[in-house]
Amino acid sequence: MVKNIKEILLEARHALKEKNIDEREARLLLAFSLNVSKEELVLKETCTLREYDKFMKSLHKRISGIPYAYIVGHKEFMKLDFEVNKNVLIPREDTEVLVQEVLKLKRKKILDMCTGSGCIAISLAKYLEGSIVDAVDISERALTIAKVNAKKNGVAVNFIKSNLFEEVEEKYDVIVSNPPYIRTEDLDTLQIEVKNEPLKALDGGKTGLYFYQKITREAPKFLKENGLLLFEIGYDQADEVKKIMEKNEFTQIEIIQDLSGNNRVIKGEKS
Ligand code: GLN
Repeated sequence: MVKNIKEILLEARHALKEKNIDEREARLLLAFSLNVSKEELVLKETCTLREYDKFMKSLHKRISGIPYAYIVGHKEFMKLDFEVNKNVLIPREDTEVLVQEVLKLKRKKILDMCTGSGCIAISLAKYLEGSIVDAVDISERALTIAKVNAKKNGVAVNFIKSNLFEEVEEKYDVIVSNPPYIRTEDLDTLQIEVKNEPLKALDGGKTGLYFYQKITREAPKFLKENGLLLFEIGYDQADEVKKIMEKNEFTQIEIIQDLSGNNRVIKGEKS
């Protein structure tokens, strides 16, 4: 028994569209299920029943709200490839703005707090010549993926399993973090794909500011003189995070926008 590719794609696109999911994912998921590239798929007319079954499983996962990146198991970030699974937040394009800001500083010794998939730490280690990068996460499962990603991208990052700074011992030029920052009560309103990501990586407590407060308060102890602290922030959190940084004696505070013009990154210097 063989199945006709054109017919499969037609049905799949329809099913995705009904759920308001980008129809182009049909072709990508099929290529993934048949283990061929997008280009190779164009040349195929049929597939086996077994391949079809595999595709239908992926399609159903996608329709049930599992993010595309979890199904195919990886995601591009800063032109690098990262393995992802349900234990880590999927790298976001907006977070590239944070990485770019750190790259501009040209400071070598860096700590990435709440590293998750490792995308920030690994991109910095890859693109910043001579950098020494440490990365912390509380989740053993996240660190397992992060280590795979460091190896895959050919960089050395020192991963530390720690509840925030508890196990951190050194001092850094730069501390960078994309902590969980969604207000607990807003978690319910997130789109289904995001709800399928680890809650722990999203939940920023009642005000969404829990991790900014904790990290900012402790960061000075782990920063060298004139060390810098950079965060990714939610689009509506710039003022509040700025206040937290000022209260903890950070100066030269700058807020940087993402590609959609939303406030996305905040930077301050230890005074
Ligand atoms: N940017 C993510 C989102 O909008 C949130 C990431 C985070 O909490 N650090 O879903």
